[in-house]
Amino acid sequence: MSQDVKARLLQLQAEFARRAEATQRDLQQPAPQDWDEQAQHRQNDEVLEGLRAEARYELVRVNDALARLEAGRYGQCTRCGAEIAAGRLAAVPQADLCSPCAELTGR
Ligand SMILES: [Zn+2]
Repeated sequence: MSQDVKARLLQLQAEFARRAEATQRDLQQPAPQDWDEQAQHRQNDEVLEGLRAEARYELVRVNDALARLEAGRYGQCTRCGAEIAAGRLAAVPQADLCSPCAELTGR
């Protein structure tokens, strides 16, 4: 069980790291000369910045989950200590809050 979780988390870690890098690379593309294209470019950058922030945030959560797994605390809510429901962990392996706490904190 925990080996499967670890494999899944490592997979997610690679995926979010790849996404963070890809968006970072796209953001470093020089702006085009054309005015119309520049406006489009700025809009794209805003979207990319959102995606990059999300990828970095999820990467941190995955790393935290891996640390909890090593420490033998994986699957425990970091707020109230309750067991996180198996279905929730299956859907979001990096979840650090049980459903009630997630609702309370708006996550
Ligand atoms: Zn909780």
